[in-house]
Amino acid sequence: MLVVDNLTVRYSGILALQEVSIEVKKGETVLLVGSNGAGKSSLINTVIGLVPSASGRIVLNGKDISAVSCSARAQLGIGYSPEGRRVFSSLTVRENILSSTQGIPISTARENLAWIEKTFPLLAERANQPANQLSGGEQQIVAIARAVSRMPKLLLLDEPFLGLAPVWIGRVSETIRELQRRGTTILMTEQMARPALKLVDRAYIMRNGLVRRSGTVAEIRDSALAEEYL
Ligand code: ATP
Repeated sequence: MLVVDNLTVRYSGILALQEVSIEVKKGETVLLVGSNGAGKSSLINTVIGLVPSASGRIVLNGKDISAVSCSARAQLGIGYSPEGRRVFSSLTVRENILSSTQGIPISTARENLAWIEKTFPLLAERANQPANQLSGGEQQIVAIARAVSRMPKLLLLDEPFLGLAPVWIGRVSETIRELQRRGTTILMTEQMARPALKLVDRAYIMRNGLVRRSGTVAEIRDSALAEEYL
């Protein structure tokens, strides 16, 4: 579904990604694991079109989307939940979820919202509450729900466990499992390899803008866990 081919990203003098290649197949959940500054967010932000690449290609379902705008990529089926959640604090939970549905028919947006609120009852219970009254874990679930409000083909989750207590890591993991059961293809990043490895099929270990190793969870588990302590 997604092919990132020889991607290089620079911020003025800083080389954030050096000829990185990864692949996510339909129905898979793939992890990018690595410590601070490894280049995980740069890769995700380039896939959604927020950060320009110096060279390389982003291919979605066989189509080169490297020159396609951010909003057009969302229309092509890419959903995104940013690092640090960034919910709209003064909007209610339901308004946050609906904020990503511009451009799709209202009836489809309502259908999607109904599925989301049925599947994640917390969001129905808190629907009319301002998002800033929620805990960090609850806000993370709102951010994921907002990212799936258009029912994306490919869901990108940037550090969904960041700053969460273990009980909320468990609940966010359960949210991700529910989306997997629905058949969503997922690319997620994490510094916390241990809980993330329980959710994914394959992983890429990143350090200093490079992919150091990749493989199935069984193949790279020990190296991925070592990254947690870097
Ligand atoms: P983190 O978990 O801290 O976000 P990361 O693995 O997502 O880490 P990136 O945020 O992609 O890593 O950062 C990769 C490199 O690019 C780092 O050296 C970082 O300092 C640099 N960098 C990231 N964003 C910018 C920016 N907007 N301007 C300049 N340098 C940046």
